[in-house]
Amino acid sequence: MIAPQEASSLHAKGARLIDVRERHEYGQAHAAGAECVPLSDLARGLKPCLPMDEPILILCATGPRACRAAEWLAARGHRELYVVAGGTAAWVAAGLPVVQEPDQGASARYARQIVLPEVGIEGQQRLQRARVGLVGAGGLGSPVALYLAAAGVGMIRLADPDRVELSNLHRQILHGEDALGLAKTESAALRLQALAPELALETWPQVVDGRNVEAFIAGCDLVIDGSDRIATRYLLSDACFAAGVPLIHAAVEGFRGMITVFDPRRADSPCYRCLFPDEQAPEPRSCVERGVLGPVPGVFGCLQAVEALKLLLGAGETLIGRLLIADLLAPSFRILSLPRDPVCSCAHAAGRRADRSAPAEARA
Ligand SMILES: [Zn+2]
Repeated sequence: MIAPQEASSLHAKGARLIDVRERHEYGQAHAAGAECVPLSDLARGLKPCLPMDEPILILCATGPRACRAAEWLAARGHRELYVVAGGTAAWVAAGLPVVQEPDQGASARYARQIVLPEVGIEGQQRLQRARVGLVGAGGLGSPVALYLAAAGVGMIRLADPDRVELSNLHRQILHGEDALGLAKTESAALRLQALAPELALETWPQVVDGRNVEAFIAGCDLVIDGSDRIATRYLLSDACFAAGVPLIHAAVEGFRGMITVFDPRRADSPCYRCLFPDEQAPEPRSCVERGVLGPVPGVFGCLQAVEALKLLLGAGETLIGRLLIADLLAPSFRILSLPRDPVCSCAHAAGRRADRSAPAEARA
């Protein structure tokens, strides 16, 4: 243990000064000259480039993590280790030089995804500008909403006409027991605003139907179907194809589920009718009748969130034209090809859209 003033003078004489807090903490304010060597990196086995025979001064927030880092380094043969008593807090209190980064909040919050080459600063800004329509704040919609809000998506328009019931809570993780009886949109708003205060959340405590579906989709970069009604699935698919807005569809029952992406902007993309042409087929039994294991919609909601973020970022390959089916009891995962049905109405719609968007000379 060493006092901050003493550490500062040793540092001035050439001793290495390391700050073992996480990068976002370091980014907010750190002792001048300190290098960032997060304890979590040490714990993961990442070897820092530190001299074995020179004094090393170790700082964290107030001391405990620096002690753990010292034990770790001592176990690996480092000999001259000094934990700075009271950590960065004591360093600041002693009036020693500090580097303070203004407005590091946003980049610190998303640091772990900004570091991904598929995201970066530009991708994070794209997410911040994104507008997503989400139908359903239930088993699928809960993880979708939580992960998109946490990822920094700028606006979510969330529709659900139901109220929170006790039998929802085993799978609809947006809602807690304190929200029983509240509108699901209201309960979701409380949770999501606590998680991501900067999220612009537009709540629609009503069913999305033929009268309002156009308004629901308007202005959205993509729509996510987390509903459990067959009629809503056809409605969303038709409306998204008419509006040229991608739709991420998933459905679950029991231990099984499926997910795919329909993208009317792509001429080869199928729609929901390509998958289920017979709208008059009897509706399969719902979660209410069949039951569903809580994490099963969680898995598929998470997959929907991943597909949404990839679409918004333009990263990787999405499930357009492919259907992922999983039986989590077996367990088995399969990805089937899902081609567009050449006689489906979506094909004609795609043709019409291509006509509309083509330049005049190309149309002639
Ligand atoms: Zn179709």
